[in-house]
Amino acid sequence: MAVCRSCEDEVDELVSVKTEGRRINVCEDCAERLLEEAEIAEMSESAMQDMMGYKGRR
Ligand SMILES: [Zn+2]
Repeated sequence: MAVCRSCEDEVDELVSVKTEGRRINVCEDCAERLLEEAEIAEMSESAMQDMMGYKGRR
């Protein structure tokens, strides 16, 4: 048995997910959620940079 690092549930298999530059072992449910969150964070970050005029200034 392995323990998910996110929800601390015991699962048969863990999935390795890279989040915020760290690699953690989580269950499949958490892996999906974390990947989604990472994607959203990335999107909002680039949206923020667009708003602040970061792009196209170089
Ligand atoms: Zn989990």
